[in-house]
Amino acid sequence: MAVWKCQSCGAIVEGRCKPGKCKSCNAPRESLEKQPVEKKDKK
Ligand SMILES: [Zn+2]
Repeated sequence: MAVWKCQSCGAIVEGRCKPGKCKSCNAPRESLEKQPVEKKDKK
């Protein structure tokens, strides 16, 4: 699972692969920036 943040509206989109567009504002995929996912529950 990866997380992308829309640079246009700030929405967080989760998915296994990069979404085609923002689900919230329909911004193109170029507006989605991959976010680092922190897993604190795993050592
Ligand atoms: Zn958006």
